[in-house]
Amino acid sequence: MTERFDAIVVGAGPAGSTAAFRLATDGASVLVLDRQRFPRDKPCGGGVTIRGARLLPFAIDPVVERVVDRIGVTMGHHGPRCDVVAQAPLVLMTQRRRLDHFLIEQAVAAGAQFRDAARVRGIDIAADGVVVHTDHGTVAAEVLVGADGANGVTRRALGAPEPSYAVALEGNLPRGGADFDDAKYDTAALLEFDTVPGGYGWIFPKGDHCNFGVGGYLDEGPRLREHLAELCAAHGIAIDDLEHLRGHRLPIRRTGAPVATPRALLVGDAAGLVDPFSGDGIYEAFLSSKIAAETIADLLGGHARDLSAYPTLLGAALEPHAASAWVAKAVIEHAPGVMMGILRLPGATGIVAGRMRAASTEHSPTTRHVARFVGRHARHALGPLAA
Ligand SMILES: Cc1cc2nc3c(=O)[nH]c(=O)nc-3n(C[C@H](O)[C@H](O)[C@H](O)COP(=O)(O)OP(=O)(O)OC[C@H]3O[C@@H](n4cnc5c(N)ncnc54)[C@H](O)[C@@H]3O)c2cc1C
Repeated sequence: MTERFDAIVVGAGPAGSTAAFRLATDGASVLVLDRQRFPRDKPCGGGVTIRGARLLPFAIDPVVERVVDRIGVTMGHHGPRCDVVAQAPLVLMTQRRRLDHFLIEQAVAAGAQFRDAARVRGIDIAADGVVVHTDHGTVAAEVLVGADGANGVTRRALGAPEPSYAVALEGNLPRGGADFDDAKYDTAALLEFDTVPGGYGWIFPKGDHCNFGVGGYLDEGPRLREHLAELCAAHGIAIDDLEHLRGHRLPIRRTGAPVATPRALLVGDAAGLVDPFSGDGIYEAFLSSKIAAETIADLLGGHARDLSAYPTLLGAALEPHAASAWVAKAVIEHAPGVMMGILRLPGATGIVAGRMRAASTEHSPTTRHVARFVGRHARHALGPLAA
């Protein structure tokens, strides 16, 4: 007989594990499947903004390696600099190998079943449930949560189109090794804009290393190594000093792309929710999994007939946030000097810090309407690479 669950979650990244945690805590029977053996790494800066951490029903302190309360922003490697400073944490720096393992442990402690090294090969979505085919057999559920990231299979099973992509490459510089003043990166991070088309370079502090990375438009893929070498050279080190060089795609949702069917929905990168300006996706993963779990709880509890409420709820929470990201990206790509001028206006860095610490997820229909209009035009202004 086929095993049957209330919910099957495909993917145990930040989106999948937190969805599973919430559903299991609500009393649902939950199976999480991941193709990789855990603990596993995921190419990522591992920066969890405070606004993201605040969405979680538990603290991630055990896997936080550094707490960032200052972010230096430059235009060019040696251009003008402006610091976003807070008297409180802005970003919690983690390593994804540890963060993701911790998150799935919380889901399992809440009652979810986890099977790693279990690749999902096929999905049948019907009007009254889902059937999932894995390397180790077939399982079924009332609902499916597609949380399998940029390269997963659930997006296609739901009939959603290919998102547009950004790309990023990163590596780790061990502390105390190369001739680099890593003491400057105890509680500070650095973002260097106007260095990679459609993106930026970063240096993030971690426990025993600093993480160097670059990301930008998909077209920059063949030049990412060159961009990373330039970032390294600007800070007096060689790209060969970096360890564990790895790259990955960042999916950015097409306007109006579907994220749900009556019995299946997409969260995090599987839904293409990466912030087009910062390239962050962990906040969006936590937020979408929260909304997904609430929508599924309504269905399982008999308060809703299907998951059709999810796209509207997701849009209501994320549209203004995404729109402001497109506007910021359009300004920085077309006029980086203007962006620096804006950042230097009195109170501007305080607003940025405030947004990193808390995001508003409640917006009036008018705000959403205006945000959708402005965001669409800002994206259009960026041209075909951002389409
Ligand atoms: C270089 C780089 C740096 C980044 N830095 C940051 C940062 O500092 N802060 C931030 O907020 N965001 C950052 N991001 C974005 C962030 O990594 C993603 O948005 C985030 O990982 C999305 O989480 P997720 O749970 O949706 O997907 P993922 O973390 O990708 O998890 C998906 C899971 O699904 C599994 N899976 C895939 N296919 C299958 C299958 N067929 N069957 C079973 N399981 C499957 C995978 O093994 C994986 O474990 C960065 C991205 C990149 C590429």
